Amino acid sequence: MIKEQISRLLKLQEVDLKIIALENEKEELPQKLKQLYQQVDLTNEQVRNIEEELKQIQVGHREKELELNTKESEIKKYNAQLYQIKSNKEYSSLQTEIGGLKADSSALEDEIIALLDKIDNVSENIKEERERQQEKLKSCKEEEGYINNRLSQIDKEMEILKKEREQGLADIDKGIYAKYEKVLRGKKGAVLVCVVDHSCGGCHMELPPQVINDLSTSNKLIFCENCARILYLPQETQEVKDE
Ligand SMILES: [Zn+2]
Repeated sequence: MIKEQISRLLKLQEVDLKIIALENEKEELPQKLKQLYQQVDLTNEQVRNIEEELKQIQVGHREKELELNTKESEIKKYNAQLYQIKSNKEYSSLQTEIGGLKADSSALEDEIIALLDKIDNVSENIKEERERQQEKLKSCKEEEGYINNRLSQIDKEMEILKKEREQGLADIDKGIYAKYEKVLRGKKGAVLVCVVDHSCGGCHMELPPQVINDLSTSNKLIFCENCARILYLPQETQEVKDE
């Protein structure tokens, strides 16, 4: 009886849909983990960029310090020279020179202070980013633990389902199963669909009256012409269940 076969196929389909869901999950979980680690990599890169920025500022700071040292030793040298100068004109011109150098030094000092502030800020920023990165890494590892647990759980569930599948398969006609399996491979989803309001429960296409008629009289599998799924009438399974 085709009705009985359909009823058995429905049970098989229930198992197969579970298997497909598990297979999808098994495929998606490592992808999810990969994305999480990519985020950690991105944070690592951000930290490296800020560290590079810090290095540049430190180089700038050292250059300014050297410049300041040069100016300061020039001032010292000129100050010593002041004592050896005889003419007033030369004296005042050297004093002007020293005044200019002092102004330069003071400007350099301001720049150095600003750079030191910047170094403090960027260092603090690096520290925060590193902490954030560590947190991300930690939650990544946690997630990895969950995912690995789930993956081994999936394997166990899959084993049980495959046994269930084998048992269900034993009572199904080989030819009917071959047709079912072909659609299953193509759809990666439901193969048998119930007729709802004279339409295919899979693609919702309205079915010709002849198909509905065949469904209640024929002893063969009836397929939806649009989506190739196997059709069944709602009462079919009910009748079998009532038997
Ligand atoms: Zn259809």
